[in-house]
Amino acid sequence: MRIVLLGAPGSGKGTQSQRLVEAHGVPQISTGDLLREAVARSADAATATPLGLRAKAAMDAGKLVDDDIVLGMIRERLAQPDAQKGFILDGFPRNLAQAAALDALLAELGRPLEAVVLFELDLGILFKRLTGRRICQDCGRVFNIYTSPPGTPPHCERCGDHPRLLQRPDDREDVIGKRLEVFEAQTKPLIEFYRKAGLLRVIDADADVETVFQRLEAALR
Ligand code: AMP
Repeated sequence: MRIVLLGAPGSGKGTQSQRLVEAHGVPQISTGDLLREAVARSADAATATPLGLRAKAAMDAGKLVDDDIVLGMIRERLAQPDAQKGFILDGFPRNLAQAAALDALLAELGRPLEAVVLFELDLGILFKRLTGRRICQDCGRVFNIYTSPPGTPPHCERCGDHPRLLQRPDDREDVIGKRLEVFEAQTKPLIEFYRKAGLLRVIDADADVETVFQRLEAALR
């Protein structure tokens, strides 16, 4: 399985990637997660890197991180042993330059993409999903205060009595608007790009996790 999940922030790509990992045993490669790890390392002055600091500034503003940073990460990640059996790209590529660079890289490796699945979802629903998203700081499990309530007070039952779930800094209302704008302007052109390449499959992502997963599996058959 060598696929790209394409969709606006909040459309469920991360959640569905996790389900695909469990079902197919191929790794999820999320550039958002890789960038957040680099930024977290940079929070400590001793391990801070210029790359982490540059990435943080773009992410906090809801903008895209520079292509050279993201492409370097992807190149390294795809070279790791677990990615040899396949990969689920989540949040990458996000613009046409990244898509072209990915094509070139995969052609070089002799492992072209097999499918690109577009998650379709109404803008109003996306907004609610993003503002409601809360993440367990220990296990990374994702909750939503509207659709999968984490209890009162909010907590992750798997990780015991930790009192608080975190909101990603870029899930604040002011940043979400920018992220959705960036999706419209820079990422949406990929739909046509992959349609022309004959790789595009489209699913309606407005349903519960299990139903969307079934639609995704059907689209990949
Ligand atoms: P995500 O977790 O996919 O929503 O990504 C969070 C943030 O990381 C985005 O708003 C961007 O600032 C940055 N980011 C993630 N993936 C990319 C990418 N492929 N290209 C550029 N920036 C990215």
